[in-house]
Amino acid sequence: MTLARGLRSNYCGELGSGDIGAAVALCGWIDRIRDHGEHLSFIDLRDHTGIVQIVTPRRNDLRSEFVVRVTGTVANRPEGTINKTIATGEIEIHDGEIEILSSAATLPFSIDDRLDVEEITRLRYRFLDIRRDKMQRNLRNRALVNSAIRRSLEAQGFTEVETPMLWTPTPEGAREFLVPSRLQPGNFYVLPQSPQIAKQLLMVGGFDRYYQIARCMRDEDLRADRQFEFTQLDLEASFVTQEDIFAFIGGAIAEIVEVTRNVQINEIPRMTWFDAMDKYGVDKPDLRFESPLIDVTEILSPLGVRAFSAPTIKALLAPVRESFTRSRLDALIDRAKALGAKGLAYFKVVEEEDRLAFESPLAKFLEEAPTLSLIERLGAEAGDTIFVVADEWKVATTVLGQIRLELGKELVSHDQLAFTWIVDFPLFDGLDESGKPISAHHPFTMPHADDFEFLESDPLRVRSQSYDLVLNGWELGSGSIRIHRPDIQSKIFQIIGVTDEEAQSRFGFLLDAFKFGAPPHGGFAFGIDRIAAIMSGEDNIREVIAFPKTQSGLDPMTDAPKPVDAATLKNVGLTLAPKK
Ligand code: ASP
Repeated sequence: MTLARGLRSNYCGELGSGDIGAAVALCGWIDRIRDHGEHLSFIDLRDHTGIVQIVTPRRNDLRSEFVVRVTGTVANRPEGTINKTIATGEIEIHDGEIEILSSAATLPFSIDDRLDVEEITRLRYRFLDIRRDKMQRNLRNRALVNSAIRRSLEAQGFTEVETPMLWTPTPEGAREFLVPSRLQPGNFYVLPQSPQIAKQLLMVGGFDRYYQIARCMRDEDLRADRQFEFTQLDLEASFVTQEDIFAFIGGAIAEIVEVTRNVQINEIPRMTWFDAMDKYGVDKPDLRFESPLIDVTEILSPLGVRAFSAPTIKALLAPVRESFTRSRLDALIDRAKALGAKGLAYFKVVEEEDRLAFESPLAKFLEEAPTLSLIERLGAEAGDTIFVVADEWKVATTVLGQIRLELGKELVSHDQLAFTWIVDFPLFDGLDESGKPISAHHPFTMPHADDFEFLESDPLRVRSQSYDLVLNGWELGSGSIRIHRPDIQSKIFQIIGVTDEEAQSRFGFLLDAFKFGAPPHGGFAFGIDRIAAIMSGEDNIREVIAFPKTQSGLDPMTDAPKPVDAATLKNVGLTLAPKK
């Protein structure tokens, strides 16, 4: 395959022994120059496809990272100089004539990405950083993700529709970026935190199956898996059930994994939200390793030991068999306390006179029978360590779940892919200060068909028709079957404390739309930055974003955000309050 045109006949990395004798013109950057005696130089010429060696008369006016055009003839490398580590290692370019297209000052860091560079410097010179192999690979991988999504969804009958960037608030829980209006001074658009409402309106509009590779903005603190702006595959479909959404998304995910990892994945397994919390202590369990939390309330509660007087007692067999040192154990105990538990008990399983016993400050409270039941329940052997948290269910599971993750870290690698659907989320996520339930997903989510009767009497017990997709302990995305009836939507607004007037002024257009024949519909969105990062083996989404922001929301290359002058502010009807 050669698409090369214009100033060149071929790409560097594509030449091989099949091209011997061909006259070629190549363009790229000088990767390295090795002078050979007084008269000869070997130059590694690099473009995005790879490197090729040019043999040329020695010149003193060339430097690394100069941009050049080289003409010459493809020739076999002499016996003994073949380099098996690069694709073009059997050939070189003879009689290379070099034309300088652009010179280069000394770079702030080497393009060789085996050399570590501080991230702030990489971001300050991002245009050079993306010249490096890793960023080239990552961004191209990301493009494969996008094209796989398009291929898969178009084959499944989805139509891509672009929705506005200048939009109106959506109640999805994130803080939104405001954009002042010049033509309507004092009024603001918001940048969409997702196309949620727009895509529901597309369903009312008869679009049937919509998708978009959508840019979303959320003014939230930045983290390894979160930037202000991110991209998600957003989809919505009419006359569908949760099963259909799983099939649509499953198809796109399978295509992504195939093109980026060259592996076929089986059907994505499912777990209820309750099981995820109960067994792993999080709603996004990392299933690359098993080690579930085990309920041992029945074994430990009857002992009457103070440390175990709590409604729920959960135990974890440490996923790694190591001899935990005193300081490591103390650190884990501190961590458990910082996470909100009263403590973290541990039991080292040891062999004592032909039977298993515990080594632990609490061992004296456990007779032989409970000791052996605990060991048996956990399936522990000599050398293992068991950790125990006794507390309210939520605290016991979440704290021990975090300890599980910390201990399991060394067992997992980016080569494994453990997907799971989490289903049957609660509709509400606790109560706000005024005692009103808070929507767990967003207020457009349909309650679970079996739980409608508890909406008013016991709202926290109501499950929803919403689902998350989890990969390797990261939440890739969420979705739900939506409410399409105005009466149910009004009821939900009323339960969460949005008055009729408020609902009308904020989402009147949506409630109106539902009055004019809204099909039942549902959808999903997953983060492309996140899946692209995992597919590229990265821990931080910045590594798959061309021009990301730092943790503090800055762009060290452009210096954004920057002040603007008073006239510009006045144009949009704003004046700055004096700095405190
Ligand atoms: N709008 C939701 C989100 O951005 C996804 C969905 O419900 O489709 O998380």
